[in-house]
Amino acid sequence: TKLRVGLLFGGRSGEHEVSISSARAIARALTTEQNTDKYEILPFYIQKDGRWLAGDVPQQVLESGTPLQLPSTPNDQLSVAKNQVLGRWQSPSQVAEVDVWFPILHGPNGEDGTIQGLLTLMQVPFVGSGVLGSAVGMDKIAMKTAFAQAGLPQVKYKALNRAQIWSNPCVFPKLCDEIEATLGYPCFVKPANLGSSVGIAKVRTRPELEAALDNAASYDRRIIVEAGVVVRELECAVLGNDSPKASVIGEITYASDYYDYETKYTEGKAGLLIPAPVPEAVTRQIQEMAMRAFIAVDAAGLARVDFFYVEATGEVFINEINTLPGFTATSMYPLLWAHSGVSFPQLVDRLIQLALERHSASS
Ligand code: ATP
Ligand code: MG
Ligand code: MG
Ligand code: MG
Repeated sequence: TKLRVGLLFGGRSGEHEVSISSARAIARALTTEQNTDKYEILPFYIQKDGRWLAGDVPQQVLESGTPLQLPSTPNDQLSVAKNQVLGRWQSPSQVAEVDVWFPILHGPNGEDGTIQGLLTLMQVPFVGSGVLGSAVGMDKIAMKTAFAQAGLPQVKYKALNRAQIWSNPCVFPKLCDEIEATLGYPCFVKPANLGSSVGIAKVRTRPELEAALDNAASYDRRIIVEAGVVVRELECAVLGNDSPKASVIGEITYASDYYDYETKYTEGKAGLLIPAPVPEAVTRQIQEMAMRAFIAVDAAGLARVDFFYVEATGEVFINEINTLPGFTATSMYPLLWAHSGVSFPQLVDRLIQLALERHSASS
C-alpha cells in the first residue's frame, strides 16, 4: 500500500507564493515513475488568512499555481486562529489519513516551529526540523547565539528589542552611539524573525540608522544589527538527521547593492553558480561549518546554510540557516543536491524516509 503524504503548503507569511511553487515541484516529484508506486499525495492548503482547506481546492491550487481565497465567514483574527485549530479536528477523515506530513511553508507560522508543534502533538511523522530546530533557526538572535556557542565565525552584531527602540527617548541615542562605535557603517538592520530580506536595511548614516531601527521594530519585537562586510554569498545544502551530509556549494550572483527582496524575486536579477568557483579549501570549510550549524540549532531533515566569503582575506562567516528553504524546480537547495548526485525525486523520497526514521527513533 502507498504511504499517504500530507503536503502542507501556502500559509500566512509573505512567502505564500513561493510555498505554492515549492509544493508543485514536490508534488511533481512524488508522481514521477520512481515514486508513484510508493506515495500518494493528500494536499492541504493554508489560505493567506490562515484557513486550512483539504480536498479539491488544494488540488486546484497545486495545478494552477495561483493562490486562492475562498470567501470566508467571520474573518477576524480570533475566528481565523480557531479555524486553524478546529479545522483539522472538524475534517478528521482527511487529516487522519495522513501517514507522513510534508510541510513546505516558508517564513513565520510555518518555518518557525509553530506548525511543527502542531504536527508533533498529532504524533504523525513530518519532514524537516522539529520545534526547537525550527524556532532557533528562524530567530536570528537565538540562531546567532547557538552558532557562537558552536564556535562558528560570524560578523559582529548587536541584539535589540522593540522597547529599547520605542519606549525610552533617553536610551535610543545611546544605543545608536554604541552601534556606531562597535559596528560602524555600513551596517545591516534586520527584524529577527523574517525572511526574503523583508524589513532589512543597509544603512550608512545616523539618520538612516534611526529610521531603519524604527522600521525594523514595526515588523518584529526582536531586532538585530550587523556589521556590513563586502562579500561573495555562498550556500550549502544539508541533508540528514543526526549524521547530516553537506552538498557541493553554490554562489549567488547579482548586480544590485545586496541580495534584497527585489533581487530575490525579480526574474533575471540573481544568478546561481554551481559549483561555486572558490578554492577547494573554502568549499571544504563551508561544508564542515554547514554540518556544524545544522547540529548547533538541532535541525533535522533539511536545511540550507548561507555564508559570507570575503575574497580579499579568505575569511568565511556564517550568515544564517534556513530550515525550510525554497524548494521550487529552480531553487538552490534541490539544485545543490542535483549537482551532488541526488535527483529531485530521490531527494523528496529521502526526506520522507528521514522523517519516518526520526519519528520512530523518538517514539
Ligand atoms: P532569506 O530570504 O535567505 O531567509 P533573510 O531575510 O533571512 O534571507 P539575510 O540573509 O540575513 O536575510 O540578509 C539578506 C541579504 O542581505 C544577504 O543575503 C546579503 O546580501 C545582505 N546582508 C545581510 N547581512 C549582511 C552583512 N552583515 N554584511 C553584508 N551583507 C549582508
Ligand atoms: Mg533567512
Ligand atoms: Mg528564509
Ligand atoms: Mg538569507
